[in-house]
Amino acid sequence: MPTEAETAELRDEAVRLASDLIKIDSANPPGNETAVASVLMRYLQARGVGCELVARERDRANLIARLPGSGNGPSLALLGHSDVVPADARGWQHPPFSGLVDGDGYLWGRGAVDMKNEIATRAVALGVLASAGFTPRGDLVLIVAADEEVGTADVGLSWLVRQRPDIGTDFALNEGSAERLTLASGATIATVAVGEKAAGCVRMTAVGEAAATIWPGLGANAVPRLATLIDRLGPGILARRVLPSTRPLLDRLLAEAGAFAAAGEALPAALAAAGSLHPALESLLGSMFADTVALTRLGGSGSLNVMPARAWAEGDCRALPGTTEEDVVASLTRLLGDDLPYELEFAQPLAGGSVSAVDTPLFEVCRRFVARHDPGTTLVPTLCPSFTDSHYLREAFGTVAYGFWPVRSTPYEVMYAGLHGQDERVHVDDLGYATLFHIETCLAIGSMDR
Ligand SMILES: [Zn+2]
Repeated sequence: MPTEAETAELRDEAVRLASDLIKIDSANPPGNETAVASVLMRYLQARGVGCELVARERDRANLIARLPGSGNGPSLALLGHSDVVPADARGWQHPPFSGLVDGDGYLWGRGAVDMKNEIATRAVALGVLASAGFTPRGDLVLIVAADEEVGTADVGLSWLVRQRPDIGTDFALNEGSAERLTLASGATIATVAVGEKAAGCVRMTAVGEAAATIWPGLGANAVPRLATLIDRLGPGILARRVLPSTRPLLDRLLAEAGAFAAAGEALPAALAAAGSLHPALESLLGSMFADTVALTRLGGSGSLNVMPARAWAEGDCRALPGTTEEDVVASLTRLLGDDLPYELEFAQPLAGGSVSAVDTPLFEVCRRFVARHDPGTTLVPTLCPSFTDSHYLREAFGTVAYGFWPVRSTPYEVMYAGLHGQDERVHVDDLGYATLFHIETCLAIGSMDR
């Protein structure tokens, strides 16, 4: 166990580095990630960590840093992305690229939560281990990838996994979960995202018969038909399902709520009982146990004086790992009925849904860390509702990839209000805590035999 002074030193170093990274405007588009990767490279090289910039586009470099392993142990990747979402400075209490620390101990700026905080703590951990002369058995690799937030340029991890099979590690830690919730029962849970939902665009087209608008009863206007279909879709919950990876969370919450384990038809009631334990749980559980569609775009006639034969609505579909496009269509058909003519198709295919095993040495290392440093808090697996770069590692290399960055000091509400929003900030004590976590995890995994 490190002393208090040592932990404070780790915190200050991580805060300095995170603040330097936040000051670089890497809003995507356009990204400008090479500037972020270069600061990290200088920091790591000064501590003896071998680094390289790997770029498909000059201004959008990825960083790969490595402590090479000595022998036959499992390898671990510490993953992060260097881009951030844009920030409109109006409405922020401190400018979004200030990187300042306020009097209450909060580090401010775009990326303070997503995810320059995480990259800084992972880099400091690797630097500390290198400086101390630690030689792991398997490789410890820091990967800081470009273009995660937009993700369509194919210059970040999607490209890197094809170019560089040497980044295929046994385990990986990435963003995706930093929930620590104190429940109405008094118990506290922290989450590790072991998987992610898939996302795609589903298009629903109501079919009718075009006609002139002089009399609404002519033809068969597709617009009111579409309105009926939209109404039948209701809140957009297609099918609910418990996965082996989400069962432990539900069981834990039901035990806390004094409710019974649920199956089949009882699942909505079970989710309601579990969700009553914390205000954040309703949406978290809602998304974690269901395939959903949220309608966002729609269109009808191109002309004011023509009632259309076709009217359409498109929705963002988020599906549980294992759900196929055929499953989604079958669920939609059940909701929409068969008395109206309509068509369903995927305008963008479902992509990104994947899940890693829960019963692994990495989960056990995370669990033991929380038990040691945050006594009374139970670590549970969750699914991340939006996808992260982790799925590229799972798909390319079969890596066991988790989203985990432990927090103890930043309240959940502060953490999530800032994410892609205004006034993004994180308590500096969490940077010290997370740096300690990464050092201990690298030491634990790096000392294991394969
Ligand atoms: Zn992110």
